[in-house]
Amino acid sequence: MTDVLAQLRAALPDGTVLTDPDLLASYRRDEADLCESGTPLAVVRPGSTGDVQATLRIASSTSTPVIAQGARTGLAGAANALDGAIVLAMTGLDRILEIDPVNRIAVVQPGVINADISRAAAKHGLRFPPDPGSWESSTIGGNVATNAGGMCCVKYGVTSEYVLGLEVVLADGEVLRCGRRTRKGVAGYDLTRLFTGSEGTLGVITEITLALRPATAGALTLAALFDTVPAAGAAVTAIASSDTTPSLLELLDAVHLRAIEAYRPMGLPDAAALLLAGTDTSAQDLAGIAGLCRAAGAIEVHVAEDATEADALLGARRAAHPAMERLAAVTFPAGDGALIIDDVAVPISRLVEMLDGIEGIAAAHGLTVGVVGHAGDGNLHPNIVVDRSDASSLAAGRAVFDEIMELGLALGGTCTGEHGVGLLKRDWLARELGPVGMRVQRAIKDALDPKGILNPGKVL
Ligand SMILES: Cc1cc2nc3c(=O)[nH]c(=O)nc-3n(C[C@H](O)[C@H](O)[C@H](O)COP(=O)(O)OP(=O)(O)OC[C@H]3O[C@@H](n4cnc5c(N)ncnc54)[C@H](O)[C@@H]3O)c2cc1C
Repeated sequence: MTDVLAQLRAALPDGTVLTDPDLLASYRRDEADLCESGTPLAVVRPGSTGDVQATLRIASSTSTPVIAQGARTGLAGAANALDGAIVLAMTGLDRILEIDPVNRIAVVQPGVINADISRAAAKHGLRFPPDPGSWESSTIGGNVATNAGGMCCVKYGVTSEYVLGLEVVLADGEVLRCGRRTRKGVAGYDLTRLFTGSEGTLGVITEITLALRPATAGALTLAALFDTVPAAGAAVTAIASSDTTPSLLELLDAVHLRAIEAYRPMGLPDAAALLLAGTDTSAQDLAGIAGLCRAAGAIEVHVAEDATEADALLGARRAAHPAMERLAAVTFPAGDGALIIDDVAVPISRLVEMLDGIEGIAAAHGLTVGVVGHAGDGNLHPNIVVDRSDASSLAAGRAVFDEIMELGLALGGTCTGEHGVGLLKRDWLARELGPVGMRVQRAIKDALDPKGILNPGKVL
């Protein structure tokens, strides 16, 4: 251990290798509660690709685990540290290197915050669409490593659709450049896609070439209220089957509406479910969506009067996570409240069955389970509220989690729509992929990380 530290200090600039115990403790984990984590040996804050290379060469020669971290907003424990590991904190590599309006690309370092890319692109009349709820805090490196989704992905697709090329430092410290700057390009295996979503287990991303899109006109937004959650799901199915593609289609259930209202009072209605829908095309398209909501049983449809009101509605959706954390805290005072956050995605045609099923599972176990999600993508986040100090509450929470996963797979879905596998979904990945799928995944991992030093214990 001392040897590893001495080597890191000798190879890296002063102030790059940090070992203060309080600081090490603060780098233990991401936002997923109830996942195991350890205390790293050191936090390395690289200032260049060369620093990442030097760190990985030492890690490789000493077989020391390395965990790349962005902003640690992840919700699957994927960024959690291990005892004795090196944490590579990538947030200091935060420069936007290039915005090229003709080729519509941005070249960025991994520590750039998602929303900063959007703001920089907007100056050129362009946009970077993927907008996770954490867009003001999560890094693009973390977004690429988890293949993050977001609110507008229902129309514009998730992060991987915008990643054209990568610079990646491999486990032995070598630098791989893959992908392209061109609109088209099919040279060789698509390694860019392979590293996208690999959760820090195949290499450390040090530069990203992103596709940008032309800016769109401001979105028009509506809120539709339903007296059951499955009715809101039926509206989503109807909208998905229509010839209008919404640019926003988010679901909030009653648990979330009440939690958000308690967290940040803004006059949200007390309904069983609220569907937030938007278009960036025409008022006519929005009217079509409103009609489909009414036909599916909406008890009220309210069209936002202006951008301020639309932003407030989106703000409510973005407050879902902290609001649910607060709900867990007030439900179980003395710091015992915890959330198990699920992330299941099903084909849209099975969404109503999924929503029905979640209600049944929650009722059978007597737990509070709030459902929020990118409904237009069939991607739901059931938030299970548990008491961490009560073994029976934890066991019930885990049973709910497992039954939701089971149902999602039975409906032809996936165990993670966007948060990634991390620690939380490892067992479920094997169930979803089966033995052949797992064998191929392990072969890829072994080829790129033969010593198993990159984020060990995550994903596989
Ligand atoms: C309030 C809130 C809302 C959220 N909303 C969404 C949402 O709408 N959609 C969504 O998809 N997620 C969402 N998330 C989850 C989270 O923000 C995303 O997973 C995000 O992409 C993580 O980015 P990060 O910078 O925090 O990465 P981290 O959490 O630090 O790391 C995530 C993973 O990426 C790896 N990693 C990070 N940087 C690198 C790198 N440079 N090279 C290689 N591997 C790396 C880590 O090892 C880890 O496996 C939300 C989280 C919160 C707290």
